[in-house]
Amino acid sequence: MTDWSWTKEDADEAYHISRWGDGYFDINQEGHLCVLPNRDPNGPRIDIAEVIEEMKLQNIPMPMVIRFHDILRSQVKLLNETFREVIKEADYPGKYTGVYPIKVNQMREVVEEIVDAGTPYDFGLEAGSKPELLSVLAFNDNLNALTVLNGYKDEEYLRLALLGNKLGRKVIVVIEKFSELYKILKLSREMNVAPMIGLRAKMSVKGSGKWAESGGDKAKFGLTIAEMNHAIQILKEENQLSCLKLFHFHIGSQVTDIRTIKEVIREGGRIYAELLKLGANIEYFDVGGGLGVDYDGSQSTNESSINYNLKDYVSDIVYILKEICAEEKVPAPNIVTESGRAITARHSCVITNVIDKIETSFTEFPTDVGVDEHRLVSKMREMYESLNLKNAQETFNDAEDTKKEALSAFRLGILTLEERAKIETLFWKITKKIAGYLPDMEFIPENLYDITKSIAPQYLCNFSIFQSAPDMWAIGQLLPILPITRLNERPTTEGTLVDITCDSDGKINKFIGIEETRNLLPLHDLKPNEDYFIGLFLTGAYQDVMGDLHNLFGRLNEVHVFCDDEDPTDFYIEEVIKGSSSDTVLRAMQYNPEGMAYTMKKNIDKEIQAGKISPREGVRLIDFYEECLQSYTYLKK
Ligand SMILES: *Cc1c(COP(=O)(O)O)cnc(C)c1O
Repeated sequence: MTDWSWTKEDADEAYHISRWGDGYFDINQEGHLCVLPNRDPNGPRIDIAEVIEEMKLQNIPMPMVIRFHDILRSQVKLLNETFREVIKEADYPGKYTGVYPIKVNQMREVVEEIVDAGTPYDFGLEAGSKPELLSVLAFNDNLNALTVLNGYKDEEYLRLALLGNKLGRKVIVVIEKFSELYKILKLSREMNVAPMIGLRAKMSVKGSGKWAESGGDKAKFGLTIAEMNHAIQILKEENQLSCLKLFHFHIGSQVTDIRTIKEVIREGGRIYAELLKLGANIEYFDVGGGLGVDYDGSQSTNESSINYNLKDYVSDIVYILKEICAEEKVPAPNIVTESGRAITARHSCVITNVIDKIETSFTEFPTDVGVDEHRLVSKMREMYESLNLKNAQETFNDAEDTKKEALSAFRLGILTLEERAKIETLFWKITKKIAGYLPDMEFIPENLYDITKSIAPQYLCNFSIFQSAPDMWAIGQLLPILPITRLNERPTTEGTLVDITCDSDGKINKFIGIEETRNLLPLHDLKPNEDYFIGLFLTGAYQDVMGDLHNLFGRLNEVHVFCDDEDPTDFYIEEVIKGSSSDTVLRAMQYNPEGMAYTMKKNIDKEIQAGKISPREGVRLIDFYEECLQSYTYLKK
């Protein structure tokens, strides 16, 4: 039954979709969450529930990752178009030529899509390790696009970079550590190819937010001002100063405060100008990553938010650089960014099905008056009986004290086990009764608010936080989380989420809120024979590729969705990638599943010979074991 008093606006207020959704998400007529791949409210809409329905028909079980490739493309376009627009508006003499740092999401399909969408803009790639370099060499063959190489480098890494230069690519080796400069000069002579060199500066400006330590004097990477001077000197002596092409810094990911961006561009701009005055002819000014994502939609300097938008970010870079270059009378450089998070975060989500609702329950003990009962029991009973809306807060405080007293009394042998059970039951009854009053209270005092938390149901979700949302566990990252259907129904309860790992950390009890984070998520009651799906959104950056095999829960089934305006559903599924089977995850841990099946068969054979299992049943059992090795690691519905 539709509750007409619950509107789309109410749902938006409950889950803040329009705040974090950035125009990509909306609720449709059916009360389902849908994706607007072109950020156009009148354009195509992909109903996430329909994607799941189609997967069900293909027998692809939950949980799953859904990738919206159009969002990736759209983000690449947005970043490039915004730079073009601002550069034109500011009459900035240089160009923008960005790169995507693949460490943020190295999935081949993601990298391919970004390269493809970025071709009209000569958008390039960035790598930070040898395997990443192997990937970007193969995937970025646009001779006009940059390939920027960061991270610590050995000889092999540098030879690979020079191989790229031999192919006519713009591969720039960023010197993070002084000794790399000698190595690259030596190897380039040996391989007879001119290198393209970048210098990474240690900036005094620190980032803001979680990754602030990537900048500052203690930063792990980069050259000091003295070392940069020295580098110029060496390049001059070697007659290789013309190979110095790029100036780089990176002050950390998810910079929450726009003032930090302004400061670091000012500092970087001055260093750039000084390097030019020393004779360097640097073409590229690379501001690294840091462009953040407003995960909680609060537009603040919270760690999971940012207090600026893309246009602000781009404008600050372009206008500040223009001003500095004019003042210092040096040519304006081409601008490079290494934005990873901002490009990939929105394109993927994790969908899980709720397996069960776990109610906080308490096995009640009969609480009738006993003969010569201890006064603490009588006291607790009186409190329960006289409890009302008005005295709730006071009663709860007293009840907590009495419970504590009872525990001490029990330890001292004054209270019997039966009396303690009575006291705990009465305390539970008081708590439950107060919880019933809470909706009628105008203001909920803090100690009573904790009651809602302690009696809130836990929704058991078919996934592992360690695999699918590792940042939530590791660094307290907030993500938008919400049911993806029934958004036209008023939620009937508030609860927390728990995953299916055996780890007590496998839970989610921090949700986005505008003023502050919330401990409980508005949820609907489960209906028999009807799936209830919960989505975790904005999971496309870092989380997607950093998940681990805790409890041996493996990679998720993955669905790649493309928008198709002609199709009645506005989408088609381009590809389904099956998630890990138990066999796969076991192999990753050095097991030999065939050997295991063989051992099991031997054991079963022994039982057959001993006459304890019939041969027919024995065959069934071994078949079953082998079948389980091949199946998905998550719970079957
Ligand atoms: C991680 C990293 C990035 C990506 O940063 P985002 O904030 O995700 O855009 C860019 N450059 C370097 C050098 C990095 O280490």
